[in-house]
Amino acid sequence: MPGWGYGSKNGPQTWSRQFPVGEGKRQSPIDIVTEKTRPDPVLEASPLEISYDPSDQQSIGNTGHGWKVDYMGGQSSIRGGPLEGTYALAQYHCHWGREDERGSEHTVDGHKYAAELHLVHYNKKYGSFAAAADKDDGLAVIGIFLKVGKENKELLKVTNTLKNIKYCGSTAKMEPSDPDNFMPDTRRYWTYEGSLTTPPLYESVTWIVFAEPTEISREQLGEFRHLRRHTTDDEKGDDSDDDDGVIADNYRPPMPTGERAVRSCNAAVRFVRPQ
Ligand SMILES: [Zn+2]
Repeated sequence: MPGWGYGSKNGPQTWSRQFPVGEGKRQSPIDIVTEKTRPDPVLEASPLEISYDPSDQQSIGNTGHGWKVDYMGGQSSIRGGPLEGTYALAQYHCHWGREDERGSEHTVDGHKYAAELHLVHYNKKYGSFAAAADKDDGLAVIGIFLKVGKENKELLKVTNTLKNIKYCGSTAKMEPSDPDNFMPDTRRYWTYEGSLTTPPLYESVTWIVFAEPTEISREQLGEFRHLRRHTTDDEKGDDSDDDDGVIADNYRPPMPTGERAVRSCNAAVRFVRPQ
């Protein structure tokens, strides 16, 4: 059976055959309808605390679906805001389009951004990402929209290494990055209860999506599109479609929001040094 992907034969519209929860009521991403979002005083009263330690960073790898930077040690974490307890950073990765006009998973009043960065955290009470991944309160993901503009200095550390992980399964060392620098200047965020946006699509994610995008250069987005889904230049792998094997359009389109509330919080975000 071919693996899941983003092609016409194995793309998001096919995932729920193998992962029925994909038809559930708590799926992600969603279209954020700003008029329906509601400010929540509870969120304002409990600032989201972000505490990342760049020395926890491990290698960067090509998963066949994108690039991913792993974290270890559990010192890099977030708490507060919509979260109960502390959530440790496990990895960050990105979704992007083949063209600059699309690529984000969440959309805002129907608007697609060029890319969307995801910082994936697990609830420390479960001890590991694997144990937390399918629990209702297991995961918390920070989503950051990327739009075309000036060069993103922090993401240069990623884009500078992509030539070393062109093929699926490869990993490389990367200069330690500080994810604080990915955050937009305006710290307004939306939050709602959702899911992983890739199989197994577990409905375990508290989403925290920053309202303002940060910038990335057209050249840097172009570097993302040099990654390949297959393991070598001559082997296309069994998930290849009728194209060039480039990783792009690796995003799931919005799912129904249904009865879910999307809460907003204006500026209650605090950056804290790890202990
Ligand atoms: Zn993601």
